Amino acid sequence: MTVPDTASTTHARLLIVGPQGSGKGTQGIVVADAFGIPQVATGDIFRANVSGGTPLGKRVQAIIEAGDLVPDELTSELVRDRLGQPDAAAGFLLDGYPRNRGQVADLDAFLAGRGEALDAVIELAVPRAESIARLTQRAIEQGRTDDTEEVISNRLAIYERETAPILDGYRARGLVVRIDGVGTLAQVTERIFAALAVRGMVPAHPGAA
Ligand code: AMP
Repeated sequence: MTVPDTASTTHARLLIVGPQGSGKGTQGIVVADAFGIPQVATGDIFRANVSGGTPLGKRVQAIIEAGDLVPDELTSELVRDRLGQPDAAAGFLLDGYPRNRGQVADLDAFLAGRGEALDAVIELAVPRAESIARLTQRAIEQGRTDDTEEVISNRLAIYERETAPILDGYRARGLVVRIDGVGTLAQVTERIFAALAVRGMVPAHPGAA
């Protein structure tokens, strides 16, 4: 059973979905800060474990470097642990998870077990050529070893094959807000806030944007 939430402006359970290079990481942080909720980015958590040389990092390093997906079981467990922390009780913004139908089912089961559900799924739409251009630029600027040309196209292919289809399921539930991701950072942020406001979600700290 879902408990009515009196502080509806700060309560937000969100996903941000878009191809690599869509700017979802950056927008996700801005939106999460404005709503006062943690951004939970599985890619960032995995990368931190790899660079920290943790047991998890050692297990997933080769997978991440190839741009393949870490097994669902491991990924979903990581997310359940993270969402079980107190700062995620009033809401969260997931970035990079769920990434396929199996993970959608895992997340649904987890949230249902807590009497929760997603409030909205932000789809950040950018053309493929734009994603590739941005990823290539980021690889140069940040020296990201998981962003070689071959890995970039593998990751985009996986996105199109496995991740884009999950949006159909969320669309059928009426959860998807589709945002044009081409524009300046501020323009895209404005579009996201406007679309969420239509659904009654207004950030408590819009100034954070
Ligand atoms: P990202 O920064 O979101 O593109 O994630 C970087 C890498 O982490 C991906 O290429 C995958 O190897 C792994 N990863 C991140 N999120 C997931 C997920 N939800 N399921 C499986 N693997 C993931």
